[in-house]
Amino acid sequence: MPSQTHLDSEVLIVGAGLSGLAAARALAQAGYRGHVIDKGSSVGGRLATRRIAGGLADHGAQFFTARSEVWKAQVAQWQSEGLVTIWSNGFSDGKRPVESFDGHPRFVTREGMNRLAKRLAVDVGELASFHLDTRIVSVEPLGNGWLAVAESGTRWTAPALLLTAPVPQSLALLGDAAGRMSSADRDALTRIVYAPCVAGLFAVGGGTRLPHPGALQRPDAEITWIADNQRKGISPGARIITLHAGTRLSQSLWDQSEATGLQVLSAELSHWLEPGTAIHEAHLKRWRYAQPIVTHPERCLLASGLSPLVFAGDAFGESRVEGAYLSGLAAAAALIEALSQGHGLSFHPGNSQPRNEN
Ligand SMILES: Cc1cc2nc3c(=O)[nH]c(=O)nc-3n(C[C@H](O)[C@H](O)[C@H](O)COP(=O)(O)OP(=O)(O)OC[C@H]3O[C@@H](n4cnc5c(N)ncnc54)[C@H](O)[C@@H]3O)c2cc1C
Repeated sequence: MPSQTHLDSEVLIVGAGLSGLAAARALAQAGYRGHVIDKGSSVGGRLATRRIAGGLADHGAQFFTARSEVWKAQVAQWQSEGLVTIWSNGFSDGKRPVESFDGHPRFVTREGMNRLAKRLAVDVGELASFHLDTRIVSVEPLGNGWLAVAESGTRWTAPALLLTAPVPQSLALLGDAAGRMSSADRDALTRIVYAPCVAGLFAVGGGTRLPHPGALQRPDAEITWIADNQRKGISPGARIITLHAGTRLSQSLWDQSEATGLQVLSAELSHWLEPGTAIHEAHLKRWRYAQPIVTHPERCLLASGLSPLVFAGDAFGESRVEGAYLSGLAAAAALIEALSQGHGLSFHPGNSQPRNEN
C-alpha cells in the first residue's frame, strides 16, 4: 500500500485497459496519484465481455497465458481468489486434436475477461481518480507538464502523462505536439502496426460440434477463432458463441454493413452447429486496433526531451494480455524514475484537478 502521496506528482493516464490499470496500481503503490481517463463506460478496453441473451461472451481477449514470473505471480493470486481458472492446455484447429502441450496453460476469467480489469480497478481503489465515458481529444505540453482536454471540454493538467490507447490513437491525440518528440521516438512509434478484427457474438439454442474444450483456433484461416462461452465456463445460463474473423476477412468486411458481416460470420458458424441448432441473436463488433502485428521491442517508450510522457500498451513487448500488463508496470517504473529525478516537479497548475471550461 502507498506510503506517501505526492500531491504534486500526479499522473494523467489515458486508457483504463489492462496496461493503464496495471500502471495506475503500481503508481499508487509508490505514492503517485493517477487520473485514469477512458472513453468507455467501463474499465477494461479490449478485456471486453458482453451480456447477451441471458449469457456472457468475451468478444475481445479470449484467454491468456503466463510466461513471465511477474505475471505468473499475479495470475496465481487471482487463481487463489477463484477469479481465474485454467481452461485448457491448447486448442484444436478443428481437424486434429491439440498436438502437444507447449507448457503454457490457457487461463480464463470466471464471469469473463472484463472482471480482470474490474478486479485491478478495485486494487487501485481511491488511490486514483477514474473518469469513464470521457474521451480525450487532445494532449499537449504545458509548462513543465501536460494538458489533456476531453470532448466535454474538461481539462486536466499534471506533471506527467501516460498514453495507453493504441499508438495511432495516442499519436493523434498529440497532434502537432508529436513534432516536439525526437525523430527516433516518432519513427519508433509510427512503425507500430495493428491488425483489425471483426468479431461476431451468437446466442444459439442447441449444441455445437466444436472440439474439446469448446473452441477451435486457426491462426492463418479466414475464421481464426470460434469458442463456446458456455463450455468455457463463463456463461452457464446460455450458449453464446464468439467468432473472430482473421485479418484478411476482417479487412474485407470492415466497410460492409452489419447485416452483411453477420451473414458471412453466421454462415461460417453454421458448419460447427449441431443440426437443428438455431441462432437466436447476433451482434457484430469491429476492433480497428485488435492486435499489434508490428510491435516496439521495449515494454514502453519514454519520450525524450519532453516533460515525462510515456507510451505503453500491448504494442510494447508482447502483443497479448500479459504484454499489456508488463507494459503498464514498465511505464509506471519509467514515470516514477522520471518524476523522482525532479522532472515535472516544478509544475503547479492546480494539482491536476479537472476543470470544466464549457
Ligand atoms: C478480438 C481480440 C482478441 C484478442 N484475443 C486475445 C487472446 O486471446 N489472448 C491475449 O493474450 N490477448 C488477446 N487480445 C489482445 C488483448 O486484448 C490486448 O493485448 C490487451 O487487452 C490490451 O490492453 P491495453 O491496455 O494495451 O489496451 P486497451 O485494452 O485497448 O486499452 C486502451 C484503452 O484506451 C481507451 N482509449 C482510447 N482512446 C481514448 C481516448 N481518446 N480517450 C480516452 N480513452 C481512450 C480505450 O477505451 C481503452 O479502454 C485480443 C484482442 C482483441 C481485440
